[in-house]
Amino acid sequence: MAKTELIVSALENGTVIDHIASNEVFRVLQLLNLDKSQDTVYMGSNLDSKKLGKKGIIKVSNRFFAPEEINKIALASPNATIIEIRNFEVVSKTKVALPEEIKGIVKCMNPNCITNHEVIETAFTVVPHSESVKLKCRFCEKFTTKENMAFK
Ligand SMILES: [Zn+2]
Repeated sequence: MAKTELIVSALENGTVIDHIASNEVFRVLQLLNLDKSQDTVYMGSNLDSKKLGKKGIIKVSNRFFAPEEINKIALASPNATIIEIRNFEVVSKTKVALPEEIKGIVKCMNPNCITNHEVIETAFTVVPHSESVKLKCRFCEKFTTKENMAFK
Protein backbone atom coordinates (compact mmCIF):
# COMPACT_ATOMS: atom_id res chain seq x y z
CA MET A 1 0.00 0.00 0.00
CA ALA A 2 1.16 3.50 -0.77
CA LYS A 3 2.07 5.79 2.06
CA THR A 4 -1.05 7.58 3.18
CA GLU A 5 -0.87 11.26 4.01
CA LEU A 6 -2.50 12.35 7.19
CA ILE A 7 -5.06 14.99 6.47
CA VAL A 8 -4.17 17.61 9.02
CA SER A 9 -7.31 19.26 10.19
CA ALA A 10 -8.55 20.33 13.56
CA LEU A 11 -11.52 18.46 14.94
CA GLU A 12 -14.29 20.54 16.43
CA ASN A 13 -15.80 17.55 18.22
CA GLY A 14 -14.74 13.96 18.02
CA THR A 15 -12.08 11.41 18.84
CA VAL A 16 -8.49 10.93 17.78
CA ILE A 17 -7.05 7.43 18.14
CA ASP A 18 -3.31 7.97 18.24
CA HIS A 19 -0.29 5.64 18.48
CA ILE A 20 -1.90 2.79 16.59
CA ALA A 21 0.71 0.40 15.20
CA SER A 22 0.83 1.15 11.45
CA ASN A 23 -0.21 -2.36 10.44
CA GLU A 24 -3.26 -2.23 12.71
CA VAL A 25 -4.94 0.91 11.35
CA PHE A 26 -7.27 -0.97 9.00
CA ARG A 27 -8.15 -3.54 11.64
CA VAL A 28 -9.15 -0.78 14.05
CA LEU A 29 -11.22 0.93 11.32
CA GLN A 30 -13.05 -2.33 10.65
CA LEU A 31 -13.57 -3.25 14.29
CA LEU A 32 -15.21 0.11 14.95
CA ASN A 33 -17.19 -0.13 11.70
CA LEU A 34 -15.64 3.15 10.64
CA ASP A 35 -15.19 1.79 7.13
CA LYS A 36 -18.99 2.00 6.85
CA SER A 37 -19.40 5.15 8.90
CA GLN A 38 -21.34 8.24 7.92
CA ASP A 39 -19.03 10.33 10.10
CA THR A 40 -16.00 12.07 8.67
CA VAL A 41 -13.01 9.80 9.20
CA TYR A 42 -9.41 10.79 8.59
CA MET A 43 -6.70 8.23 8.79
CA GLY A 44 -2.98 8.01 8.28
CA SER A 45 -0.44 5.26 8.54
CA ASN A 46 3.35 5.04 8.48
CA LEU A 47 3.70 8.36 10.22
CA ASP A 48 6.93 8.95 12.11
CA SER A 49 6.63 8.38 15.83
CA LYS A 50 9.31 8.70 18.50
CA LYS A 51 7.59 6.01 20.54
CA LEU A 52 6.71 3.40 17.92
CA GLY A 53 8.99 4.18 14.97
CA LYS A 54 6.00 4.28 12.64
CA LYS A 55 2.48 4.82 13.76
CA GLY A 56 -1.04 5.20 12.53
CA ILE A 57 -3.71 7.66 13.53
CA ILE A 58 -7.48 7.82 13.06
CA LYS A 59 -9.64 10.91 13.58
CA VAL A 60 -13.41 10.69 13.67
CA SER A 61 -15.73 13.70 13.74
CA ASN A 62 -18.66 13.70 16.14
CA ARG A 63 -17.98 10.25 17.55
CA PHE A 64 -17.09 9.25 21.10
CA PHE A 65 -16.44 5.61 21.82
CA ALA A 66 -18.15 3.42 24.39
CA PRO A 67 -16.10 1.24 26.78
CA GLU A 68 -16.80 -1.86 24.70
CA GLU A 69 -15.47 -0.13 21.59
CA ILE A 70 -12.39 0.98 23.50
CA ASN A 71 -11.85 -2.67 24.50
CA LYS A 72 -11.82 -3.54 20.80
CA ILE A 73 -9.23 -0.85 20.15
CA ALA A 74 -7.13 -2.19 23.05
CA LEU A 75 -7.28 -5.74 21.66
CA ALA A 76 -6.19 -4.65 18.18
CA SER A 77 -3.73 -2.00 19.27
CA PRO A 78 -2.66 -2.15 22.93
CA ASN A 79 -0.53 1.01 22.72
CA ALA A 80 -3.22 3.29 21.33
CA THR A 81 -4.18 6.56 22.98
CA ILE A 82 -7.72 7.92 22.86
CA ILE A 83 -8.01 11.70 22.69
CA GLU A 84 -11.44 13.26 22.99
CA ILE A 85 -12.00 16.73 21.60
CA ARG A 86 -14.87 19.10 22.31
CA ASN A 87 -15.01 22.62 20.93
CA PHE A 88 -11.51 22.22 19.46
CA GLU A 89 -10.08 21.44 22.90
CA VAL A 90 -8.64 18.20 24.21
CA VAL A 91 -10.88 17.16 27.09
CA SER A 92 -9.31 13.80 27.78
CA LYS A 93 -6.33 11.76 26.73
CA THR A 94 -6.14 8.16 27.89
CA LYS A 95 -4.04 5.17 26.95
CA VAL A 96 -6.26 2.19 26.19
CA ALA A 97 -6.17 -0.59 28.77
CA LEU A 98 -7.41 -4.13 28.54
CA PRO A 99 -10.02 -5.12 31.10
CA GLU A 100 -9.60 -8.28 33.19
CA GLU A 101 -12.09 -10.16 31.08
CA ILE A 102 -13.42 -10.00 27.55
CA LYS A 103 -16.89 -11.23 26.67
CA GLY A 104 -17.97 -11.69 23.09
CA ILE A 105 -15.94 -9.60 20.58
CA VAL A 106 -13.29 -12.30 20.02
CA LYS A 107 -13.58 -15.89 18.76
CA CYS A 108 -11.80 -18.72 20.55
CA MET A 109 -8.91 -19.97 18.39
CA ASN A 110 -9.55 -23.59 19.34
CA PRO A 111 -11.70 -25.15 16.57
CA ASN A 112 -12.93 -27.77 19.06
CA CYS A 113 -14.07 -25.22 21.62
CA ILE A 114 -17.75 -25.40 22.48
CA THR A 115 -18.12 -21.69 21.69
CA ASN A 116 -17.37 -22.50 18.04
CA HIS A 117 -20.10 -25.15 17.90
CA GLU A 118 -22.92 -23.83 20.01
CA VAL A 119 -24.51 -20.45 20.45
CA ILE A 120 -22.56 -19.40 23.53
CA GLU A 121 -20.98 -16.03 24.12
CA THR A 122 -17.20 -16.36 24.35
CA ALA A 123 -15.52 -15.38 27.61
CA PHE A 124 -11.83 -14.90 28.21
CA THR A 125 -9.60 -13.97 31.10
CA VAL A 126 -6.98 -11.46 29.99
CA VAL A 127 -3.56 -12.78 30.96
CA PRO A 128 -1.88 -9.90 32.79
CA HIS A 129 1.67 -8.70 32.19
CA SER A 130 2.08 -10.61 28.98
CA GLU A 131 4.21 -9.04 26.27
CA SER A 132 1.35 -9.04 23.80
CA VAL A 133 -2.39 -9.56 24.08
CA LYS A 134 -3.14 -13.04 25.45
CA LEU A 135 -6.64 -14.31 26.29
CA LYS A 136 -7.44 -17.53 28.16
CA CYS A 137 -10.73 -19.14 27.17
CA ARG A 138 -13.05 -19.82 30.11
CA PHE A 139 -14.45 -22.87 28.35
CA CYS A 140 -11.48 -24.75 26.89
CA GLU A 141 -8.61 -22.94 28.67
CA LYS A 142 -6.70 -22.52 25.40
CA PHE A 143 -4.94 -19.25 24.70
CA THR A 144 -5.99 -16.90 21.96
CA THR A 145 -3.21 -14.44 21.18
CA LYS A 146 -2.86 -11.40 19.01
CA GLU A 147 -1.41 -13.56 16.23
CA ASN A 148 -4.40 -15.90 15.95
CA MET A 149 -7.13 -13.54 17.08
CA ALA A 150 -10.29 -13.32 15.02
CA PHE A 151 -13.10 -10.98 15.83
CA LYS A 152 -16.79 -11.82 15.84
ZN1 LIG B 1 -12.29 -21.94 23.87
